[in-house]
Amino acid sequence: MPKKYYCDFCHCSFPDNPTNRQKHIEGAAHQANRKFHYDWFKEPEEFIREQQSKPPCRRYLNHGFCEYRLDCRYSHIAYDMAGHPIYPAELIEWLQQRQVADASSSPSAVSMQQQQQQQQPAKRYRLPSGWKLHALPPSLKPPPRQGYDWSDVATW
Ligand SMILES: [Zn+2]
Ligand SMILES: [Zn+2]
Repeated sequence: MPKKYYCDFCHCSFPDNPTNRQKHIEGAAHQANRKFHYDWFKEPEEFIREQQSKPPCRRYLNHGFCEYRLDCRYSHIAYDMAGHPIYPAELIEWLQQRQVADASSSPSAVSMQQQQQQQQPAKRYRLPSGWKLHALPPSLKPPPRQGYDWSDVATW
């Protein structure tokens, strides 16, 4: 049985031999998949910086569209009169997808905490059953909502 080469980036397999392998790895589809894969794990800020550091894409600037999209060797980020970057639709799309992916799979401590808080509503203060609030001595009463009045502690 001939060995098969499985490409993790393209999710495809083919008979493994040096020619096939080289052809595949040099192929445009593989290179785009590979790049996309790595880009996906980049921080959005870093990704945007990288896009901005490329020279501007003439095709994109002239036609408002370039089929290479995010894989273009040139930058599709334009600038307005004030010098603010205008992101191309494909970059905004990427950022949105990226946000969704982060929100659903991020193991970061902050989002874990938020999830736990959502699952467990804050505990309310409760008196043991049978206790009547107005019948308790002051020292056993729960703190008043507005906090204790410390202005006339001398009278205690
Ligand atoms: Zn591949
Ligand atoms: Zn381009």
